[in-house]
Amino acid sequence: MSNSEYGTDRYPRFQGDASFDVAIIGGGYTGLWASYFVKKLEPSLSVAIFEAEQVGYGASGRNGGWISHMIPGNRKKFARTSQGAEGSRALQREFITSVDAILSTLEDEGIDADQVKGGMLAAAHTVAGYNRLVTKREADFSYGLTEDEVRLLDRSEFQSRINIDDVHGGLFYKDVARINPAKLVHGLAEAVTRLGVEIYEHSRVTSAESGVLKLERGTVKALKTFICTEGYSGPLLGSRRLIPINSSMIVTQRLSEKAWDRIGWKDMECLNDSAHTFIYAQRTADDRIAIGGRGMPYRFGSGTGGSGETEQRTVQQLQAKLSAFFPGIHFNVDHAWSGVLGVTRDWNGTVSWDPHTGTGASVGYAGHGVTAAFVGGRTLAELALNRTSERTSLPWVGYQTRDWEPEPIRWLGVQTMYRLFGVADTWEESRKLQQTSLIAKAGSRLAGLHE
Ligand SMILES: Cc1cc2nc3c(=O)[nH]c(=O)nc-3n(C[C@H](O)[C@H](O)[C@H](O)COP(=O)(O)OP(=O)(O)OC[C@H]3O[C@@H](n4cnc5c(N)ncnc54)[C@H](O)[C@@H]3O)c2cc1C
Repeated sequence: MSNSEYGTDRYPRFQGDASFDVAIIGGGYTGLWASYFVKKLEPSLSVAIFEAEQVGYGASGRNGGWISHMIPGNRKKFARTSQGAEGSRALQREFITSVDAILSTLEDEGIDADQVKGGMLAAAHTVAGYNRLVTKREADFSYGLTEDEVRLLDRSEFQSRINIDDVHGGLFYKDVARINPAKLVHGLAEAVTRLGVEIYEHSRVTSAESGVLKLERGTVKALKTFICTEGYSGPLLGSRRLIPINSSMIVTQRLSEKAWDRIGWKDMECLNDSAHTFIYAQRTADDRIAIGGRGMPYRFGSGTGGSGETEQRTVQQLQAKLSAFFPGIHFNVDHAWSGVLGVTRDWNGTVSWDPHTGTGASVGYAGHGVTAAFVGGRTLAELALNRTSERTSLPWVGYQTRDWEPEPIRWLGVQTMYRLFGVADTWEESRKLQQTSLIAKAGSRLAGLHE
């Protein structure tokens, strides 16, 4: 091991020329799970992962730690593909069952990522927000969730779990688990190394065409290439295919027992809210709160924000959210960071495989990539090895979405969308609206998010 700008390097740099059966670009969850399933399906194949920085440098080392049932995208849009609503239901069911599949794989591989399946709570702070959750639950039912999988909670039921001051009520989803993201990515990297996968860090791929990968210090020939670069995909897949949307997080210092007595949160549920500029949070294994939200949404020209510097304004906004949830408790912030999600023009993720070029990709998970990386990586391995499974015909396989607009329209569009969401939250709260405002509907339409 050696030290670099981002901490300890665990794997060597690639240098020279080599050939592999499968070359994977990107050392995040998708690349790692894809390598895991290739080795499980065909142990004799040689597999190498090339990571530009360090394993877990991308969103996989920086996320909110939810393994959730949520699919990466809009179920209504997937239902418009040739598989229809049945295809969307199958996709949804695959994500629900994958939560337990991930947890049992972690157990089989001896990976301790602080995993706890405590479910997820969605809090409504306004009547309009509560009504959105009621509608959301109806949609969940139509895509196959059961009464046991998604329950409506009134204010006191919600507060008996997490004692948020201004909550109206909310939803409880059963199939969501909390993890420590960095522990998961490193545990997974160790597991695939044990299976014989070679991992190279500080080994950026500068081009990948017809089975030839050019790196800064060498060339790799591969029978099959997987592009698993999510929010960083611009240089390899094209800057208009996916854009990097920023998300920022803070983690508090460890809270006192007295504070936890006031807050509750004993079952380690993941937490979000129904605001348009929503937050997501978890109680960590060492008794802190990690909470995230949008911060600066998008950098002109698809910038990826480097190692994740976070504006003080964003830190204060997230801290203020916690103070509003739990008045009377002072939250000291220990760390703040940011990362990027890959977002397609209609916010739907996609797994693609081209047997002619031997190249595939699994990208565009928006904010729901922890489970999506497992399902996408697994599906990519199956498609590349010519296996048929319940996953290989899901509607996100081969799903195509139109390109993002060129700059500066793209930048203006994303800024406007987030501005509309911010205004809509204030409007709905100040006017005590019963229904979602037209402003928010306009933002959703602009983004293509409405279901
Ligand atoms: C702050 C934040 C919070 C989030 N919270 C959640 C959550 O709670 N639950 C959830 O489901 N999802 C969440 N997400 C999304 C989720 O983390 C991601 O979707 C998921 O980790 C994507 O994994 P990945 O392996 O596809 O991509 P990444 O983890 O981004 O990995 C891509 C890797 O590719 C490398 N790379 C890029 N270009 C090259 C190249 N040319 N050569 C070699 N390597 C290259 C990058 O350095 C990077 O390490 C969050 C994301 C962020 C940023």
